[in-house]
Amino acid sequence: MNADHADHPQHDHRRLGRELDLFDTDPLMGAGLPYWLPDGAVVRHTLEEYVREAERGAGYRHVYSPVLGKRELYEISGHWDHYSEDMFPPMKLGGEEVVLRPSLCPHHALIYRSRSHSYRELPLRMAELGGMYRSELSGVLGGLTRVRSIQLNDAHIFCTLDQAVEEARAALALIRRAYADLGIRAARYRLSLPGEGNKYVADPELWRRATALLEQVLDGVEYEAVEGEAAFYGPKIDVQIVDRAGRESTLSTVQIDFHQPERFDLHYIGPDGAKHRPVMVHRSIIGSVERAVAHLIEEHGGAFPAWLAPVQLVVLPVAEEQYGQAEKVVRRALDLGLRAELAGPEHGTLGARVRHARLVPYVAVIGEREAADGDLAAVRLRDGRRPGAVSVAELLARVEGVVRTRGGELWAAAPHQAA
Ligand SMILES: [Zn+2]
Repeated sequence: MNADHADHPQHDHRRLGRELDLFDTDPLMGAGLPYWLPDGAVVRHTLEEYVREAERGAGYRHVYSPVLGKRELYEISGHWDHYSEDMFPPMKLGGEEVVLRPSLCPHHALIYRSRSHSYRELPLRMAELGGMYRSELSGVLGGLTRVRSIQLNDAHIFCTLDQAVEEARAALALIRRAYADLGIRAARYRLSLPGEGNKYVADPELWRRATALLEQVLDGVEYEAVEGEAAFYGPKIDVQIVDRAGRESTLSTVQIDFHQPERFDLHYIGPDGAKHRPVMVHRSIIGSVERAVAHLIEEHGGAFPAWLAPVQLVVLPVAEEQYGQAEKVVRRALDLGLRAELAGPEHGTLGARVRHARLVPYVAVIGEREAADGDLAAVRLRDGRRPGAVSVAELLARVEGVVRTRGGELWAAAPHQAA
């Protein structure tokens, strides 16, 4: 795997992750179990909050559910029969066996089942950024792309058959918007169908119906149908990404599922007063947080869009005398909700401090002239441009505007209006 990265070592997320203090691993925690350092945690938190906000806006409600479940739960869902080789072995607890969950679906099915539902509540969109576990072999583990502990951006939409295609299409639209905001590109759409073997539930009618619906969802979208890539319980749409070394992987998915509603005996009360079976649409906008951040690190070479950057603004007092003024600028930036830091002369020469901040979108230098004015900062941008001395108010309004709108242009010709 290392050799693949030889042409692009500067974009290997494992190397950048260590250099930029984003994440790391420790043999005592174990392979495939990375931990997140403060700067990496900021990126992850910002990404998670972005996803939750997008979901809230699209009518999803969030839940939390435990990462453990009884073995029986996965026997009902079908994971035990079709997926157990990817699961951690069960733990004995009293007379019971509990397992680390390999997916969130069974928990969400139980949450849905715990209350009765009228057709008026559908589509019911249940979302969670939750942990799940996969017993990947240690030989294939690396960085954030192959891990044993996964934080999944997941959601399940419980809806009528008539609503399923529209809900799946809306999920694809959310995925497209997220990719635009994150500055990443879908390489291709894949319709993943079952292959040979007993990995898949045996119910030809189920596969036929779900596949026909997904084909409707993809109407007008260019895609490729591939056998052997489906989930065990149904076909799925996979949004594929390609890394700098040309390796393809799945980031986002949309699935239409008839299997689990059946297994969990889910229902809603229809307008006729009778019980009906809902359809489950499974979807993930950014897939696992680990893979999404790995891809973002490689895509941007560590220079994240301003809204995702661990530090958005560094303020550099040239000498000790401008320290107080620089502190005030940092304070004002923090009060606006920006991520700002001060790097004083104790961190080295001005040149060394500027170099150290090379991945920070905005650098504000406070020298004698700026301090004397009381409200000036000499601005340098990550891309090398130097807009020069501007008022601190204008600088902060611009940074705040770019972050709020998730803009890619650091310094537009016309300044942002102060909020
Ligand atoms: Zn699911």
